[in-house]
Amino acid sequence: MRLISIVNVAIGMALLAPAPALAERLLITVGADALATARTAAAEDTGFEVLAADEDVAVLSIDEAALDALTEAMHAHHGRCGGFMVHESLADALDALDAPVAPADGPPVDYRLERPHVVRAVLPAIEPGQLLSTIEHLSGMKNRYYRSPTGAAASTWLRDRWRSFTTRADVTVELVDHGYPQRSVVLTIPGTTLADEVVIIGGHLDSIAPGGTGSDAPGADDDASGIATLTEVARALLASGVRPQRTLQFMAYAAEEVGLRGSLRIASDYRRRGVNVVGVLQLDMTNYQGSDRDIWLIADHTDAGQNAFLGRLIDAYVGATWAYDRCGYACSDHAAWTRHGFRASMPFEARFRDSNRAIHTRKDTLERSDHNVQHAVKFARLATAYAIELARADLPAVDATTRPGPGSSSRSPLPFVALAIAAFGLAFVLGNRMLRG
Ligand SMILES: [Zn+2]
Repeated sequence: MRLISIVNVAIGMALLAPAPALAERLLITVGADALATARTAAAEDTGFEVLAADEDVAVLSIDEAALDALTEAMHAHHGRCGGFMVHESLADALDALDAPVAPADGPPVDYRLERPHVVRAVLPAIEPGQLLSTIEHLSGMKNRYYRSPTGAAASTWLRDRWRSFTTRADVTVELVDHGYPQRSVVLTIPGTTLADEVVIIGGHLDSIAPGGTGSDAPGADDDASGIATLTEVARALLASGVRPQRTLQFMAYAAEEVGLRGSLRIASDYRRRGVNVVGVLQLDMTNYQGSDRDIWLIADHTDAGQNAFLGRLIDAYVGATWAYDRCGYACSDHAAWTRHGFRASMPFEARFRDSNRAIHTRKDTLERSDHNVQHAVKFARLATAYAIELARADLPAVDATTRPGPGSSSRSPLPFVALAIAAFGLAFVLGNRMLRG
């Protein structure tokens, strides 16, 4: 049980009254270990208030103008990308104190690996050059800050790129408006037989550096790499013509760096609508190899069962080394899904303390990764295997209802071979009889 050790007497009043002075104030939660950092970052803001706290989480009221300073401080002192959550109401913020860290609700998920033939058929479709070009384009923008014109342009560019992957009418790509210029982008491949069960692969579209709207924030690793990785997974799956039994969604979240705002809005909406999310995979920073092992599975604020499943996927399909690590409170968008009771995981590029030091500066460019995507490709392989196994994707030839398409030429030749052998055998027997006869 968690104990609230500091409670401002104003809470009771604030819960009853519609908050009148909150137009320029934000309700946020930070990890209790980062409370002093937040207090220092918001020092100029006379209205900094600790509203509640327990041993893990603190609920704060800060001036919106202090947001960028808070992001910088969280990155500088705790290495967290984000590191806090912005809440829509005090009730929602207080609820975060009791939020489940684990385990998620719902029936257990079947994590057996049953589709090696599908995974092995799709993996060769992953093209490093495509992945690289997505990072080049996104990091070539001045910034992808959630309030800037280029941050908004990143959303529409990505929507158009995702739309270019297929002409299928059932595959949709949508922009999700959150009330600021940058919008989240969602690609949906509807499931064939289990359409109301949803598997989500996400990353954050925004970037940040000191200076906000006017900053130079290429964000090549943080997080153009994650967006490019999941973009290549979506492209490879659609090009292969596989059909998932469960609905598969790809999400590029807006405004992660300023309090996981895009992902929190989407996750709370899914919670409210009772969407049956089977699993969520977060890709935030995939292209800087800073440690002795390849993939680091974040063990805090994630689902242990799904994490173990990822470990088995890496062993079976990726050909990479892996280990567990931790990254602290609200370090990326997986925490938004965990906060709302869904199973989420985050495979990360390095041991957390060894990760890319250039993020949140103008130096977060592809040069930090020697201008290649060798590391990110391992994450693309992992996310492809995750999508196929968890969403139960089948090859087009297996699906009898599939219209002739890109996969029809790969239909098994076995029946034709058997027919030819039978015909040859018959001719041989008849020929022998004629000769003898
Ligand atoms: Zn990030």
